[in-house]
Amino acid sequence: MKENKFLSRRNFLKLLTAGSIVGIPLEAEASRYPIIKRIRYSSTIERTRIVFDCSGKVEKNWIKTHLKGNVLWITVKNTRTNYMKRKLRSNLVKEVKVYPINRHLSRIKIVMKEPHKFKIFALKAHCGRPFRLVVDVLPDFLTTSCPIRHYQKRIVVIDPGHGGKDPGAIWPIHSSHPIIKEKNITLAISLRVRRILRQYPNIKVVMTRTRDVYVPLLKRAEIAAKACADAFVSIHADSMPNFPNWSGVTVFKASPKLFAQAKLMAREVAKKVRLCNDVMCWSISPLLLNMSTTVTFVESSRLAEAIVKSLKAHVNDDLINGIKDMQRNIVVLKTPGRPAVLIETGFITNRLDRKRLVQGWYQEEIARGIAKGIVNYFHSMDKVAYESFPEVEYVLEES
Ligand SMILES: [Zn+2]
Repeated sequence: MKENKFLSRRNFLKLLTAGSIVGIPLEAEASRYPIIKRIRYSSTIERTRIVFDCSGKVEKNWIKTHLKGNVLWITVKNTRTNYMKRKLRSNLVKEVKVYPINRHLSRIKIVMKEPHKFKIFALKAHCGRPFRLVVDVLPDFLTTSCPIRHYQKRIVVIDPGHGGKDPGAIWPIHSSHPIIKEKNITLAISLRVRRILRQYPNIKVVMTRTRDVYVPLLKRAEIAAKACADAFVSIHADSMPNFPNWSGVTVFKASPKLFAQAKLMAREVAKKVRLCNDVMCWSISPLLLNMSTTVTFVESSRLAEAIVKSLKAHVNDDLINGIKDMQRNIVVLKTPGRPAVLIETGFITNRLDRKRLVQGWYQEEIARGIAKGIVNYFHSMDKVAYESFPEVEYVLEES
């Protein structure tokens, strides 16, 4: 046998490793393996999402993960890549590297600041976006990582203001034995809201308190985070001793302006600052403020609008003051990434409001207005959620 007539074993292997065997051009061979092309990421206080754009579908059984200390290794067979490195501005992840191990094996190295939970899922090519492999890194304070949801229960956190040693607004003012305490009104209305919402099988209600107990403000925010809540509704009653004519229901939402102010403050103080007003309190770090807040503001406005509209249908129009931006020095309606409103259900310092607020029928009407507003908001949100999540291929839970 003459060697020049036939491929020698050595030359055959050379051709093979060059990506070509007889009759199969390089491009065709290459296209059999998806290429990991690009690293992108987004970061919020609750999650760092790292997205790997791929030229094709990465199958679930191609992926192997290995968490060692702070480093998450992900080996992906049947893929090709070039060396890539990306430093992240994230509170959870330092940097991401992608290595080609050989022509059909890639390795991803995710260096976290501390060991964290993670979740991997794949997205189909959709609406002009490529196939994607997604790694969510989730901080430990979220004991349950938020699931990727299709049709599912919507979760709302109802937060009855004050409680226990903190009575909130009282009447008569300065009395050591007040007849009316805000904490009781907020709890009564909140429990009614829960009872009404429980009639909707697709809505789950989580309460920050169900009894007369003191719950610190940050604990309330933590409850909302752990619940993976879709909305946070805090219920209060107002007090304006110098303006006894002030009355009615007001729905507050955080304003971007407010956050701009808070951001400046946080920057001046450099580290973590705690901003409080008389009703809520928030621990703010510059990091927290770096998060994308736009979506939350928009969603909070929509939630506020839905509640106000519904309240007007349940309570005399004249009693509804409408939506206001939180003006008092602070912050708070900011539950990262989640729409939140604070409802002042009336003024304890106003004679008529005070009378109404302690009566069951009025609490019930307010509760119905709030509950129906939440239902309507979720209804509009489900349409959007369904449209924006059709492309999940599979989810790999933390191994
Ligand atoms: Zn209050």
